[in-house]
Amino acid sequence: MLYRAAWFRHHLTTNDCVCVCRLNERFAHLQLNDLRKEATLGVGGLGRVELVTLADNKSVSYALKVMKKARIVETRQQQHILNEKQIMLESNCAFIAKLFKTFKDSKYLYMLMEACLGGELWTILRNKGFFDEHTARFYVACVVEAFDYLHSRHVIYRDLKPENMLLDQTGYAKLTDFGFAKRLIPPGQKTWTSCGTPEYVAPEIILNRGHDHSADYWSLGVLMYELLTGSPPFTGDDPMRTYNIILKGINAIDFPRNISRDALNLIKKLCRDNPAERLGYQKGGIEDIKKHEWFKCFNFENLKAKKMTPPLIPTIKNACDSSNFDSYPPPNEGDPPDDFTGWDEDF
Ligand code: ATP
Ligand code: MG
Repeated sequence: MLYRAAWFRHHLTTNDCVCVCRLNERFAHLQLNDLRKEATLGVGGLGRVELVTLADNKSVSYALKVMKKARIVETRQQQHILNEKQIMLESNCAFIAKLFKTFKDSKYLYMLMEACLGGELWTILRNKGFFDEHTARFYVACVVEAFDYLHSRHVIYRDLKPENMLLDQTGYAKLTDFGFAKRLIPPGQKTWTSCGTPEYVAPEIILNRGHDHSADYWSLGVLMYELLTGSPPFTGDDPMRTYNIILKGINAIDFPRNISRDALNLIKKLCRDNPAERLGYQKGGIEDIKKHEWFKCFNFENLKAKKMTPPLIPTIKNACDSSNFDSYPPPNEGDPPDDFTGWDEDF
């Protein structure tokens, strides 16, 4: 299986707090040993994501992300994991996978999330080759809504790619994997940590010039191109070559003839070398993207209200159906070592 790994891997409104608290109340008494593993949904750099059910009720399932503490420390991801938990737990958005509760023990950290059983958008793209404009527009619009929610809370996402977009049972797309998300404090500040997946990183990240939410708009342009053509615009045989191609800019990239003029125009406006010139980062904010010609006949209000019929409706037989995901062999290493150092106190 082709796998594009990431290379190393508080500003809430009162309304947000009330909604998130209500949402999570029903998990208050849930314990780790109330959960039963049904299947593996994904394997990442730090551990696995398992499909789990309640021991006494197989009709409701969740995704449990299980991360090895020792591996987090080895790869110096401690702060990223703490950000991931905090940001996901505080988010209550239809276009972001919900995190209900976290657990920890001496060896692992656990995140109990809503299970999005339609699978990764990447799997669907791989099977179809590429999407027509109507299909791509729907998924890009889901990301625009997720970014609207995050950016208005001063959170940048930084890991957009079809592998991190999951379909729920209705066919709506949700962002998952907030391992690189960060809240910018104070708002408007830039950040310098290099992260992301090579094909999707913005030039200012490669050049270590400091970046902010404008880097998410760059990656939105890259996603649009990948969905419409089947491969991202900037690809080399290794990360270094990919970075060199990114630094040459979007105007050096060929666009297949089947991409419409409006789509090409929007991609080029998102992938401007200069972050300050990107669409979404101007005075009009993210509304400028929603108002672009490519979205002319698209109704974002209907999308938010889930009144729109998604382009693809996944087949999901029951709460334990993991058939929309790749198959993974059982873990072959033994248990990781204990970690009692206490860095995970806030997890
Ligand atoms: P990597 O660093 O390789 O991106 P990761 O360890 O950060 O991985 P995630 O990207 O969060 O892990 O999850 C890995 C995979 O597990 C996802 O690509 C997806 O296939 C599956 N997965 C994650 N969260 C969910 C969820 N809520 N519902 C269903 N599947 C999920
Ligand atoms: Mg991921």
